[in-house]
Amino acid sequence: MPGKLVIASHNEGKVREIRALLEPYGIEPVSAASLDIPEPAETGTSFAANSELKARFSADLSGMVALADDSGLCVDALNGEPGVYTADWAETPNGRDWALAMQKVEDAIQAKGPDAGRDARFVSVLSLCWPDGHVESFEGRAEGSLAWPPRGKIGFGFDPVFVPHGHDRTYAELSAEEKHAISHRAEAFAKLVAAVF
Ligand code: IMP
Repeated sequence: MPGKLVIASHNEGKVREIRALLEPYGIEPVSAASLDIPEPAETGTSFAANSELKARFSADLSGMVALADDSGLCVDALNGEPGVYTADWAETPNGRDWALAMQKVEDAIQAKGPDAGRDARFVSVLSLCWPDGHVESFEGRAEGSLAWPPRGKIGFGFDPVFVPHGHDRTYAELSAEEKHAISHRAEAFAKLVAAVF
C-alpha cells in the first residue's frame, strides 16, 4: 500500500474524483501540478498506454508512487470515437472547451443519419507506477447513452451528456457519491484496491 502518492493528472475534475476515492484509505495524495510536474505528451494509442506513460512520468520525476487515469468516451455510432482522443475534441487555441466538444460529438452522431444509435461508454484505465518502474493498470467501464441537450452542472468534461444505464439523470445531475457508486473510474479503482491495498 503506497504511503505517499502523487496524482499524475492536471485535470481538476479527475483529481477531485481520485482524491475522494482514496480518502477512505487514509491516503492524502498530492497533485502533479502542486509538485510542478508538467503534463507529458500522450503519444499512446490506447488508454492503457497513455495511463502508464503518465504514471511513469510522475513517478520518475517525484520519486513517489504515482496514480494516473486515462479515460474517454467511446460512442458506438462513431466506431468508438472520440475514445483515447476525447480531450483533443475539446482543444481550441484558448484551451479546452467542453461545450464545444459535446456539440462536436452530437454533430458527428447527427451526421450519421436518423437511425444512428446513441449508445456510448466511458472507459478509464488507472495506472499505479512505483519509483522503481513497476506499473500495474486496471480498467473500468460504464455503459450508457448520450442525451441532448446537455443537462446538469456537477462534475466535468462530458458528464452533462452521459446517462448511465439504469438511470434517467446524466452524470452531471448525479451527486459525487452517486457517480462514484457506478462510474468507470470507480470500477477501475475497485479493481486497483482489490489488487494492491
Ligand atoms: P485524458 O484521459 O486526459 O486523455 O482525458 C479524457 C477526457 O475524457 C477528459 O478530459 C474528459 O473530457 C473525458 N472524461 C473522462 N472521464 C470522464 C468523466 O468521468 N466525466 C466526464 N468526462 C470524462
